[in-house]
Amino acid sequence: MECPRCHTEMFEEEFNDLNDDTGYLGFRGWRCILCGEIVDSVILSNRKRRPAPMVGRNRKIMAYN
Ligand SMILES: [Zn+2]
Repeated sequence: MECPRCHTEMFEEEFNDLNDDTGYLGFRGWRCILCGEIVDSVILSNRKRRPAPMVGRNRKIMAYN
């Protein structure tokens, strides 16, 4: 896995996100030791549209409409 920002080799890591409302608490991803970029499968699948942290908020905004 190569960092999309600085093209340094990234290290696989397990992350725990207790604030995530998507229904899972842990996920596997990659962290760049040089620039701090974090990439995971959720971010990769959402990157074409918008950053992953916006997904939960957008869902709530849509509920109000
Ligand atoms: Zn990097």
